Amino acid sequence: MKEIDFYQYCPRCKNKLEQKSIQLLFCESCNRNLYLSPKPCVTAIIIRDGKILFSQRAREPYKGQWDLPGGFVDYTDNLEEALSRELKEELGVELVSAKYIESRSGVYYWEGYTQVVLPTFFECQISGDPKPSDDVAAIEWHDPKDYKIICFIHDQEVIKKYYLNN
Ligand SMILES: [Zn+2]
Repeated sequence: MKEIDFYQYCPRCKNKLEQKSIQLLFCESCNRNLYLSPKPCVTAIIIRDGKILFSQRAREPYKGQWDLPGGFVDYTDNLEEALSRELKEELGVELVSAKYIESRSGVYYWEGYTQVVLPTFFECQISGDPKPSDDVAAIEWHDPKDYKIICFIHDQEVIKKYYLNN
């Protein structure tokens, strides 16, 4: 199910919403547009001896699959706060510095529901010895050429573009 199909009724007046486009809903009785937005996410590229830290997902969706550390931006987080929080939660490390790389538009599937996401990528310097916790089951250091084992295409594309054959 696409996100737009999830919103059937106007949150103000409860009337049926009309789908105007892939991202726009309209309530005729309120004469108001309701725009959908992507969910921002932060993704950390952590490098040691030419290898990138891959994290294995401990929970659904994509449980057991390989990923990069990071996650959704909390409601009142900025990107840096989200990155710092996720690295502490998932790896038990402190974020020392983060260099912005780029962002991508992507999709995240969960129980038949498609969420459009906006992953933002940062190359991160950390302090501490990363250990898996929270929603990470395991970590491994991988050569960038192993990018295809990562479950998200947008993560694969960033590794391929910036780290392959470097
Ligand atoms: Zn309305």
